Amino acid sequence: MSGATTPAPGRLDTVRRFVNTLDIDSATDALTTPGELEDWLRSASLLAGATSVGPDDLARAVVVREALRSALTANHGGDPIPAGALAVLNDAAARARLTATLTARDGWRPRPAAGGVDGALGGLLALVGDAMADGTWARLKICVNDTCQWAFYDESRARSGKWCSMQVCGNRAKQRAWRDRKAESTT
Ligand SMILES: [Zn+2]
Repeated sequence: MSGATTPAPGRLDTVRRFVNTLDIDSATDALTTPGELEDWLRSASLLAGATSVGPDDLARAVVVREALRSALTANHGGDPIPAGALAVLNDAAARARLTATLTARDGWRPRPAAGGVDGALGGLLALVGDAMADGTWARLKICVNDTCQWAFYDESRARSGKWCSMQVCGNRAKQRAWRDRKAESTT
């Protein structure tokens, strides 16, 4: 994905940016070392204090990232979260000791009791829980262009957005459909 996309509201955008640390279109990954993961989590205010981030943490974070991508893909049709992704996210929630916590204004919300990277990933999952509760989660989606798969926030009134950007991936899809129709009509 090369163009700009609409940010998700509030802290849900942190989830969108986390999923987009892997740019499939340009084959660049912002999370390839434990240090990069630590920097990212700190800049997103998910990790504080002294902690050591190791290769296992990085591996788990990447698995969680791809499970989130899979869960967001299901948001197109209101489909259930695929079983594999569900297992990964529930495992991460257990490691983070995600706990129902009474908040001052928003009722009971999941909050991580664990520290370190497990707690930071739990903080991301807590943002998912908050977004599910306030209805914004269903609009966070993955671009249906397989070579893109960029996370974007669907602001369309009908919640029918398919592409990260109409100008980029939407047009690519239209041109492909047009070429396919043309090929069919000439055979
Ligand atoms: Zn796209």
